[in-house]
Amino acid sequence: MSEPRPDLRVYRLGLRTRFRGLTERDGVLVRGEAGWGEFAPFWDYDDAASVAWWRSALEAADLGWPEPVRDLVPVNVTVPAVDPATARSLVAASGGCRTAKVKVAETGQDLGAEVARLEAVRDAIGPSGAIRIDVNGRWDVDTALARLPVLDRAAGGLEYVEQPCASVPELAAVRRAQPVPVAADESVRRAEDPLAVARAGAADVLVLKVAPLGGVRACLALADRAGLPVVVSSALESSVGLAAGLALAAALPELPYACGLATAQLLADDLVADAPRVVGGALPAPHGPVVADEGLLAALAADPELDARWQDRVARVVALAGRGEGS
Ligand SMILES: [Mg+2]
Repeated sequence: MSEPRPDLRVYRLGLRTRFRGLTERDGVLVRGEAGWGEFAPFWDYDDAASVAWWRSALEAADLGWPEPVRDLVPVNVTVPAVDPATARSLVAASGGCRTAKVKVAETGQDLGAEVARLEAVRDAIGPSGAIRIDVNGRWDVDTALARLPVLDRAAGGLEYVEQPCASVPELAAVRRAQPVPVAADESVRRAEDPLAVARAGAADVLVLKVAPLGGVRACLALADRAGLPVVVSSALESSVGLAAGLALAAALPELPYACGLATAQLLADDLVADAPRVVGGALPAPHGPVVADEGLLAALAADPELDARWQDRVARVVALAGRGEGS
């Protein structure tokens, strides 16, 4: 395949809370025989790195997903770098999530704000809930070893710390030196070799995101080869892209942790009418293709300039994919 597909629908969605430095999310839906796929690599992904995202979108559009082995996918509530009162209300409004993922190490925030946020989340989720933190690789090893005991105490025990440092050797050093389990996220999805982190003994848990890793089947194969527990997480897609994550979570042989797939809650808009809602801390596994809503697509269509940027991007990525390039 080397021609851009005709049925590309470029959208722009609002975010409720600033996330990953973004206040809006834009991308493309593509329709095929099997349903709708979503292609929404963040703009800091170059064309070669976006090829996997395109393959993932085409898998959903053209092939559909493997049979699920479970009907419900436990999910976590995501708590961005917000004040304690907001953190508390996010947990309370999460649809019964028993796991919270709390963002820390945001620019301009101090340790005191993180401690207060974690204490508020523990108070809201109760003693039996699980709390994990996500550092997005922003600490060095010394900072990780200084802060983890403080944040572990504030949280009343951390389930794990996600990507405390940027590099695989740093993750391994943090894992060896302290007791909080380490999950690898960016080290899996932005690496030349996604399994290097597992081989290096640098993580207890792998975070898999369907789109940057090339689709549901590619992730199932990766999980099988890694031999580590897997958490499926989103890339802040609409409910079209989230359905691919749910399809992966529903098809994995083991699913010991709640998944980061309840992120539709972070969006002010969505592209699916009657998008699945979190009930009892879980989302339903998709049975059959996800359907984008024409009215929502029309209402949330990108302006001509953004539309043109995405059409150009898709054409470049399709050309790379057609030549067998890209990761
Ligand atoms: Mg992460």
